[in-house]
Amino acid sequence: MANIGKIGVFTSGGDSPGMNAAIRSVVRTCAYLKVECVGIYRGYQGMIEGDFKPMDARSVNNIINKGGTILKSARCKEFRTKEGRQKAYDNLRKEGIDAFVVIGGDGSFTGAMIFNQEFHFPIIGIPGTIDNDIFGTTFTLGFDTALNTVVEAIDKIRDTASSHNRLFFVEVMGRDVGHIALNAGVGAGAEEILIPEENLGRERLLESLKRSKESGKSSSIVIVAEGDKTGKNIFELKEYVEENFPDYDVRVSVLGHMQRGGSPSCYDRVLASRMGVKAVEALLQGKTNLMVGVQDNELILTPIHKAIKGHTKIDKELIRVSDIMSI
Ligand code: ADP
Repeated sequence: MANIGKIGVFTSGGDSPGMNAAIRSVVRTCAYLKVECVGIYRGYQGMIEGDFKPMDARSVNNIINKGGTILKSARCKEFRTKEGRQKAYDNLRKEGIDAFVVIGGDGSFTGAMIFNQEFHFPIIGIPGTIDNDIFGTTFTLGFDTALNTVVEAIDKIRDTASSHNRLFFVEVMGRDVGHIALNAGVGAGAEEILIPEENLGRERLLESLKRSKESGKSSSIVIVAEGDKTGKNIFELKEYVEENFPDYDVRVSVLGHMQRGGSPSCYDRVLASRMGVKAVEALLQGKTNLMVGVQDNELILTPIHKAIKGHTKIDKELIRVSDIMSI
């Protein structure tokens, strides 16, 4: 067992549903294993400012169902400097914190990895991002909730699309990856799904829309991942399609930040609870510089540098399923 008596926990970078459930799990696991736990507010910014609050099992009552993060999140420029990280380290030592669990994305993990290299400070990461773009886990916290949010939104858009014979372009989040677009697109029955991993090309998009029209469909929904390069942007894509299909009523809907919010799904709550337990146990076993992930429904630990650098793969089978479904 490592000599760890106090563990810090914080959320950093973009928030995602399930972060609170992960905080709760880390805090309760510490209480269960009789280790002190300290909440660090606003990620690395709070670490530099010494914004700490001791947490016990009761400080995380009634948060498992809440979106966002009770510890707040922040982006912190100062932590990118050696002086900033030194301040953070001094504050952690002053507070008696021996190790931390960082809940965030690859940027937050990069900061933690550098911090570990400089100060030999034990760290474990829990992947919290709706984009699902982290290597070493099949699911990141918030991805499942975001999919449900997107599918619900598209269902509503479908109602109006089918009432007016409209073609809807719906932009979803995902930075440079198409996981949300592909999964939610299949789940919501989209005609076409445009993702950065597969460049369909504008001409093939037109062909596909033409085929749908000829096959008797009167309305269509096309999901566009925000990082997709088929058009310059979704509005330019709309104009291009309108020029080629003057009789189509084309509309655009950019779902935006609503995808990041909301009460976490049951899957995300369970995953967060499991990951929090695993993270604390790993630290107490003397492990460090690892990220907790899930693969084949088993929890696994991946070296954090691999989690940051590795690329997630898009599910080719799902692309095929989507093609077949849009006949
Ligand atoms: P995410 O964790 O969601 O990817 P960011 O990329 O914004 O979010 O990273 C969150 C924070 O992690 C940054 O504001 C910064 O404080 C810290 N961070 C990111 N990259 C580095 C780096 N190369 N060195 C030190 N800190 C970093």
